[in-house]
Amino acid sequence: MTDRVAILGSTGSIGVSTLDVIARHPEHFQVYGLSAFRRVDELAEQCVRFQPRVVVVPNDEAAHGLRGALRGRAPATEVCVGAQALEEMARAPEVDSVMAAIVGAAGLRPCMAAARAGKRLLLANKEAIVVGGELFIRTVREGGATLIPIDSEHSAIFQCLPEDRSQWSARIDHIVLTASGGPFRTRDPGTLQGVTPEQAVAHPNWVMGRKISVDSATMMNKALEVIEARWLFDLQPEQIRVVIHPQSIIHSMVVCRDGSVLAQLGTPDMRVPIAYGLAYPHRVESGAPRVDFRQIGALTFEEPDPQRFPGLALAWEALAGPAGSTVVLNAANEIAVDAFLERRLAFTDIHAVNTATLESMAAELRPLPDIESLLELDARARDRAQAQVSRLCRT
Ligand code: NAD
Ligand code: MG
Repeated sequence: MTDRVAILGSTGSIGVSTLDVIARHPEHFQVYGLSAFRRVDELAEQCVRFQPRVVVVPNDEAAHGLRGALRGRAPATEVCVGAQALEEMARAPEVDSVMAAIVGAAGLRPCMAAARAGKRLLLANKEAIVVGGELFIRTVREGGATLIPIDSEHSAIFQCLPEDRSQWSARIDHIVLTASGGPFRTRDPGTLQGVTPEQAVAHPNWVMGRKISVDSATMMNKALEVIEARWLFDLQPEQIRVVIHPQSIIHSMVVCRDGSVLAQLGTPDMRVPIAYGLAYPHRVESGAPRVDFRQIGALTFEEPDPQRFPGLALAWEALAGPAGSTVVLNAANEIAVDAFLERRLAFTDIHAVNTATLESMAAELRPLPDIESLLELDARARDRAQAQVSRLCRT
C-alpha cells in the first residue's frame, strides 16, 4: 500500500531530502501535497515532477506565478493560498503522513492540525515542539497521532528505544545528545564577535538551512534539541546531557537503567532519519553513503565549553523557568538569528538578545492553556526581542 505524504516546507533542505527518499520508492510513497514560502520556481519544478494533488503558497502573487508555471504541466494540482490552506493540507483525509519541515514557530499551527487529525507526524520542525510543549504532546495523544522525530539526534534516541512507548521511562537512565560543535568549535572565542553569516553557516559536517546552521554555530540548536527531547521522550531536564562529538557519526545515545549504552550511528546525512520516519517501523534505502570505519579512524568526545557556547545552558534554565520561558527563548532566538543573517547584529549578540528578552519577560509569564495564548506570547516575545536588537544594532 502506498503512503500519501504532505510536505510542509518542501523547498527547504529537509523538504528536498524528503522528496529524494520518496522518489526512490514510488511503490511505497506518493506525494499528496507540497508547500513553500519562497522559491516558487523550485516549487513548480517539484510539482511537475511529483504531481501533487495540492500545493500551498503564502500569497496571491506567488499563486498566480505558480499557476502560470504549472499550466499544462501539472493538470491535477490545485494551488492554494495562505496559512489556513496549509492547515487544511496537513489534516486532509487523503493524507497519511505529514513531514513538518517548515523552519521556526511558523510551523506550529499546521503541526497541531496534523496532530489533531491523527496523522503520522514526521517532525523536523523542532521550533514547533519547543513552542508547543506540553500542549503539542497532549494534542498528539488526544488526536491519536503517531509522532516520529526526524531531527537526527532524536531519531537516534527513538531508534534505540522499544516500539512500545510505555516502556521508555523504565528503560532510560538518561540520554546523551551529540553535537558537532559547529564551525567555531576550535576558533578563538575572542574573535567570534566579528564572524560573518557566511562563516557561521559553513557547517563542517551537515548541509542545512541558514537558520539551523547559525543555531549550530551558537549551539542554540542543541539547546532547542534539549527542550525537544524533554517533550518527545517525557524526560526530566536533568536526564538530558550533551557532548560534543566532532565526527557526527554517533547521532545520540540512550544510557539505560543498568548502565548499558545504546547508540545509533551513520554518516551525517538527513536522508537516514527521513527514510526511517517515512518507512517506520520498516526500513528502506535512504540513498545515504554507508559508514566506513576504516576511514573514520577515531570517534572523539568533548565537554561543551560554556564560555564559547553560553546559549546551551539556556535550555535547562528555560525548562526550569516559568511556563512560557521556552516560547520566549525560541522567539528571541529566531529574531536574533534573522538580524545576524541580515548583518544587523553581531554573532555574539544573539546570546545577548536571548538572555535580555528572557529576563525582561520573566515577571509577566503565565500558564498557556491553548495555542492562541502560545502564539500571543510568541508575538510579544518577538516584539521585545526586536527592541533588544535595535538597542544592540550595529548601525
Ligand atoms: P530551510 O530554511 O532549508 O527550509 C525551510 C522551509 O520552510 C522552506 O521550504 C521554506 O519555504 C518554508 N518556510 C519558511 N518560513 C515559512 C513560513 N513562515 N511559513 C511557511 N513556510 C515557511 O530549513 P531546513 O534546514 O530544511 O529546516 C527545516 C526544519 O527542520 C527546521 O526546524 C530545522 O531546525 C529542522 N531540521 C533541519 C535539519 C537539516 O539538516 N536541515 C536537521 C534537523 C532538523
Ligand atoms: Mg539535530
